[in-house]
Amino acid sequence: MTQKLAVLPGDGIGPEIVAEAVKVVEWLNENAGLDVSLEHDLIGGQAYDEYGVPFADETLGKCKTADAILMGSVGGPQWDSVDYDKRPEAGLLRARKELELFANLRPALVFDALVDASSLKPEIVKGLDILIVRELTGGVYFGEPRGIEDLGNGQRRGVNTQVYDTYEIERIGHVAFELARKRSNRVTSCEKHNVMESGKLWKEDMSALHAAEYSDVKLEHMLADNCAMQLCRNPRQFDVIVTDNLFGDLLSDEASMLTGSLGMLPSASLGILGAPGLYEPVHGSAPDIAGTGKANPLATILSLSMALRYSLDRGDMAEIIETSVQNVLNDGIRTADIMAEGSKEVSTEEMGAAVIAELSKAKALAA
Ligand code: NAD
Repeated sequence: MTQKLAVLPGDGIGPEIVAEAVKVVEWLNENAGLDVSLEHDLIGGQAYDEYGVPFADETLGKCKTADAILMGSVGGPQWDSVDYDKRPEAGLLRARKELELFANLRPALVFDALVDASSLKPEIVKGLDILIVRELTGGVYFGEPRGIEDLGNGQRRGVNTQVYDTYEIERIGHVAFELARKRSNRVTSCEKHNVMESGKLWKEDMSALHAAEYSDVKLEHMLADNCAMQLCRNPRQFDVIVTDNLFGDLLSDEASMLTGSLGMLPSASLGILGAPGLYEPVHGSAPDIAGTGKANPLATILSLSMALRYSLDRGDMAEIIETSVQNVLNDGIRTADIMAEGSKEVSTEEMGAAVIAELSKAKALAA
């Protein structure tokens, strides 16, 4: 049965990088037995200009009936003066909320060819392959009460509330344990149970879920601050890290920098089983290089590969894409952001074409 991919290129470099991922889908449709139809729409500043809102109801409808959503990036200086609730970034937040995308997956993978791009020594990051699973719709970013209150004595008070219910901890736990079973079968759960009640509950509920359903997976608990330190000291000790919204925000940024390049980092946001996931590069719309042909499309192509693996049940196609990307890098083909001495610098389109050339080579070899 034909599967449906909603495609939301967005702003800045979004349309340029998504175009290359779309070419990969079209190639797989024509040459590798994939059967995915594409439905394009607008999000972010482009949607605001066209529809007056950054994520229209019609677009939400299209996303809800899709099997997966591939997004580029949103935002840009031309929308800086737009009202807060209509800014491009508000469109993305609405999409995440309406689609109930509570699990954010951020792999931190170091390709051998890019091992020198990391700020850490090659021997520490070589072969690194971590998956951070961050709770995305709860915790201190959403908890009530929140706000800034005037205390009337020349002082003000800022309040945010860290709050988690058992069901939220359990559902993100399920995602982490299930994914670990498909990897090296290890989960590190991070919180601050030593100083926060919400952390104590997180640890207890994660342990109970583990004992009840996932005792075949190795579970370790780690304080989030220790995890931040261990990520720099010995990152390869981790397989899947599961953590809350706030700690996940920080730890996933830290882990992604171990890989050295923003242009290489994909992400997935998943909702309840069967609902469409949203796949997008970690980076933003890079207005400074939009239209110059300098953007690296690999993070978007790798996001497509995550969509194939996690929403479209085509892990086989995901593997072909990932191997092709690896081969392109091994051949010294680089966009400007990952350029190294002795390599060949190419444009966004040329990088996309290089990935497709590798896909064609793999097909010819398999024939
Ligand atoms: P950014 O990620 O867009 O850019 C940071 C730096 O990395 C820039 O120098 C940029 O040129 C470079 N870069 C990013 N992606 C690249 C790629 N694929 N290839 C080569 N170089 C790349 O972050 P920013 O400049 O802080 O934000 C720009 C806009 O993007 C803002 O409006 C921000 O709100 C938005 N933003 C959107 C998302 C999203 O859509 N999920 C995420 C972050 C930022």
